[in-house]
Amino acid sequence: MALVSQIDYLVMGAGVAGLRAAVKLAAHGDVLVVTKESLAESNTHYAQGGIAVAMEGSNDVALHLEDTIAAGDGLVNRAAAQALVAEGPERVAELIEWGARFDRDARDGGELLRTREGAHSLPRILHANGDATGAEIGRSLLAFARAHPRIRFAEWTMVTGLVLVDGRVIGADLLDRDGLMRRVCACAVLIAAGGAGQVYSETTNPAVATGDGIALAAEAGADLADMEFYQFHPTALALEGAPRFLLSEALRGEGAYLRNDRGERFMERYHPLLELAPRDVVARAITREGMGDDGAPRPVFLDMRYVRGINLRERFPGISAFLARYQLDLARDLIPVRPAAHYLMGGIRTDLDGRTSVRGLYAAGEAACTGVHGANRLASNSLLEGLVFGSRAAKAMLEDDLPLAIAAAPDAVTAAMSSEDEDLLEIHIGQLRRAMWEHAGLLREESTLREGFAAQAAAETGIEHFIQRGKSSRRLAEARALNRVARAILQSALARTESRGAHFRNDFPRRDDERFRKHSVIGRDGRVVFEEW
Ligand SMILES: Cc1cc2nc3c(=O)[nH]c(=O)nc-3n(C[C@H](O)[C@H](O)[C@H](O)COP(=O)(O)OP(=O)(O)OC[C@H]3O[C@@H](n4cnc5c(N)ncnc54)[C@H](O)[C@@H]3O)c2cc1C
Repeated sequence: MALVSQIDYLVMGAGVAGLRAAVKLAAHGDVLVVTKESLAESNTHYAQGGIAVAMEGSNDVALHLEDTIAAGDGLVNRAAAQALVAEGPERVAELIEWGARFDRDARDGGELLRTREGAHSLPRILHANGDATGAEIGRSLLAFARAHPRIRFAEWTMVTGLVLVDGRVIGADLLDRDGLMRRVCACAVLIAAGGAGQVYSETTNPAVATGDGIALAAEAGADLADMEFYQFHPTALALEGAPRFLLSEALRGEGAYLRNDRGERFMERYHPLLELAPRDVVARAITREGMGDDGAPRPVFLDMRYVRGINLRERFPGISAFLARYQLDLARDLIPVRPAAHYLMGGIRTDLDGRTSVRGLYAAGEAACTGVHGANRLASNSLLEGLVFGSRAAKAMLEDDLPLAIAAAPDAVTAAMSSEDEDLLEIHIGQLRRAMWEHAGLLREESTLREGFAAQAAAETGIEHFIQRGKSSRRLAEARALNRVARAILQSALARTESRGAHFRNDFPRRDDERFRKHSVIGRDGRVVFEEW
């Protein structure tokens, strides 16, 4: 029988949302934070550009709200956005108190520096170490959490299942790096396991972003919402042999132009805000400019060669150092770019306090969907989302005050995957990810989505084949999650026969408010319905 232990609160994920929640929970009980790899490996760690926050009082907050609502293309849940922008300043001030060091102007009495990004009406993005904001937020939160005697961490440990008793989540099954399974029962479980960029072959997300939390919640019967809305970042590095490294929006905030292979500054043809138009507009413009008439891909570039008045290497040290590995220099070279999957606006449906539709199960951060981003996230709103909704979810977990329940784990006989099994599994995963990019990426239509479904069904058959033979491994659990998330994206994208925000249908290019100013929800029965909230 697998080992069973107990804790007051179980948190899945050590990104900004999980850590912020853990700090609040620890004031009232013992917390176990579980993370699939090292504590630093999360989307949070890779966030570059900054954190959007209105620190200048009520007018600033009102403008941040309007920008968030405008970016979300008619679908932002106003109450969620209000909570985000109104509580954001307090959460960020608290973070600074706990040791986060944002960049300050040495000449101006140490004032916090602010930059501007796409679709923000004014500069309100705080940043740290130039372009390493997420790493600094993660570092400071982790240092604060580590110093708390009631927070424990389990690194290199994967949550592989949620334990359900009488319709309530009472714990989770964990798999450690030595292949040992154990069950942890808790009064409440928080999913803060981040996004699912790995469902696409082209992504800025690290390998841990396989949508595990979303898949596990769905398996436990929780509603998913807005899964068709995946944000594709317009400018990931497009260099043969290099990873799809993110070239932050802050580059455009500091004046970078986009040029096609004829040297034209093409954004003039697409949006009055030019390079600072909403991300979906810029990403589709780059995709179109990058398609030659003959079907052959054409390069598109970021151009900062003419930018004066800032030292680009000092302002963007991380990006500059990465580009230098490929003999590229922001001040000297045109930088080739292409969109890549970046941020999931949808996820596990929650109320404004992180409650899912399943008792005992809570969600926050990128894994969750409060509707705060609507159909398209405003740049740099997600680190703030993690802080605000991580804290709110923790408050709800404390208020709900559910009693601890214990359920022993059944004896599960599993067989290890052989290296041949793992190789075959990797082929299924690769096919699924490529199909998602080709058929459910930036430009969608019914016929391509149906091709996506065919590829997803084929991958599912391959993956289930291992499961039916009693096999288990971390990668197999990830493959299941990717497959489940892929299915949800395809279903929702097929059902939304309009174009809105990050979801663009070639066959339905217009927004249809009458039918679709609603959120898509996939409930327990696996069907997509549209609801107003
Ligand atoms: C390259 C890049 C740049 C970005 N830049 C910005 C930016 O400038 N500003 C901004 O606001 N946002 C930015 N974002 C988005 C932002 O970083 C994320 O949306 C946010 O950090 C998500 O935080 P989170 O806490 O929800 O999840 P994450 O930070 O992704 O953390 C997820 C955690 O869950 C764990 N986990 C996952 N599955 C399991 C499992 N099965 N078992 C146990 N643990 C698990 C992971 O190990 C990890 O610890 C960027 C994202 C990327 C990828």
